[in-house]
Amino acid sequence: MKDINNMTKDELRNEFKSLGLQAFRGNQVFKWINSGIESLEEINNISKKDKEIIVEKYRLNKIKLIKKYEDAIDGTKKYLFRLSDNNIIETVLMKYKYGYSICISSQAGCRMGCDFCASTIEGLERNLTAGEMSDQIITVEKLEKIRISNIVIMGSGEPLDNYDNTIKFINLANDPEGLNKGQRHITLSTCGLVPEIYKLADLKLQINLSVSLHAPSDSLRKKLMPIAKKYSIKELIEACNYYYGKTNRKITFEYAMINKVNDTAECARLLVDLLKKMDNAMVNLIPVNEITEREFKKSAKDSVESFSEILKRGNISHTVRRKLGSEIEAACGQLRRGHIKP
Ligand code: SF4
Repeated sequence: MKDINNMTKDELRNEFKSLGLQAFRGNQVFKWINSGIESLEEINNISKKDKEIIVEKYRLNKIKLIKKYEDAIDGTKKYLFRLSDNNIIETVLMKYKYGYSICISSQAGCRMGCDFCASTIEGLERNLTAGEMSDQIITVEKLEKIRISNIVIMGSGEPLDNYDNTIKFINLANDPEGLNKGQRHITLSTCGLVPEIYKLADLKLQINLSVSLHAPSDSLRKKLMPIAKKYSIKELIEACNYYYGKTNRKITFEYAMINKVNDTAECARLLVDLLKKMDNAMVNLIPVNEITEREFKKSAKDSVESFSEILKRGNISHTVRRKLGSEIEAACGQLRRGHIKP
């Protein structure tokens, strides 16, 4: 049985036509799916006969909430969801002044092996479908009775390692008859899969690209992120420039500040040298999420301040991000791991 919520509106229209139904039934069913129905039986504006055909051919593959956590200090919410094959994923909802932002997972687990990340410790279980990605948003909007304004594909998984499903998800989320999230409100975060950044750029989408940099030199980056052994920082920056050339969208570089690892004045100066020629770059300095499985500690406040000062003097636009959800282990993969580990 096909998952009906993993189909775009056009796919639904075409398939329904081939089943002898009217194409506009595709639009109707697509709207119902995005409204958060739990079963296809809830659809009440199509004929009984048409509904029987649809119910017989398709399944609505919903994710199921296992547990919800809420940070008492900043209100960040974290959800553990079970997929139909019993894999577990996590989703985070954050409230900002401008509205709600959701961080969704694109894979169950991850195979990228970043040293500071809990999501990768058990490796990759599998890719999520586009439907499973959009269902994280549909389910949280319904559960919390809110409209989410920003989507960040930055939860467990490397979205460009699940390229086709991620692009399909962006199409699903962007559809005005569906979740209706503008492309400029969607951010894709990658650890730096260079060929896929070129491929993505050629689509000329208006989404934001966020690159996990975390180190200003190849030698240090290789120690933290295995992907750096495959693609040098030079190759990564060239791909980012290509992305900017095609889309005119700013690129954000994520930099997790790790005590005495990548937070020295020397690292800050190297970062300035690296990015000063890019007029489209923005750096996010974030305290690293401390996970029990690794020894990394977040940088001391004064190291962050000195680092930020060097970037400022080098005219590198940057923000020092506050850390949300620390009470509930909001680090990517931590809760999921806590739930699956024996
Ligand atoms: S930081 Fe992202 S890409 Fe790296 S291991 Fe974790 S989930 Fe994968």
